[in-house]
Amino acid sequence: MSENCIFCKIANGQIPSEFVYESDNVVVFNDINPQAPTHLLVVPKVHIETLNELNDKALMAELLAAVKAATKKLGISDYRTVINTGKGAGQEVFHLHIHVMAGREFSWPAG
Ligand code: 5GP
Ligand code: ZN
Repeated sequence: MSENCIFCKIANGQIPSEFVYESDNVVVFNDINPQAPTHLLVVPKVHIETLNELNDKALMAELLAAVKAATKKLGISDYRTVINTGKGAGQEVFHLHIHVMAGREFSWPAG
């Protein structure tokens, strides 16, 4: 738990939030500023700043399992996943998260 980290507060229940899906070490909730009709954030409960600091292979697996479980629960089979790592890649919240977006067309290469 890192003080002043908004995703720590959400993931650990300090800010009451509705979870689309939850497993032992991961929560999934809606992005506050959705960039697609469905825009989920898949977030470890423990504070990890970026993908560069994620070394726990079991947690890596649990994060991807949560992507699959949450999309399956919502009946979504086609979706875009994004991990912004570092300011230069557009990361704004420095608590690791996987964006999951669905419900519109996605261009490639990503912008
Ligand atoms: P990043 O740019 O770090 O990859 O993405 C951060 C994401 O977190 C953005 O899509 C932003 O809308 C979302 N976000 C920021 N603050 C909050 C919040 O308090 N609650 C929720 N649900 N999403 C947030
Ligand atoms: Zn945090």
